[in-house]
Amino acid sequence: MKSNGKSTEVQGVAYRVACQNRGCGHRFELRITPQNAKLLSETMACPRCGRRGGFLKPDGRIGDKLFAARLFFKLTSTSYGNAGSNEEPDSIAEAY
Ligand SMILES: [Zn+2]
Repeated sequence: MKSNGKSTEVQGVAYRVACQNRGCGHRFELRITPQNAKLLSETMACPRCGRRGGFLKPDGRIGDKLFAARLFFKLTSTSYGNAGSNEEPDSIAEAY
């Protein structure tokens, strides 16, 4: 009979995510717990630029329960209205 009373230790790991959206580059920390672990297999939006459809790509471990990750976006979503992002004049051309 094991007496493992409910552990109050925090489950999960933290991901230090860097947004790969052009012109954003926002870094934020995302805590992955068993409750939201599906974020790793679904898409999410960047909390700063608000672009949706980002894939979380783990990029290696950088510490104890701390991982680096990148938020990748599909290049094909041209329907996304990004009017106003005129900070990068010449990096758009290389995508075509
Ligand atoms: Zn972003």
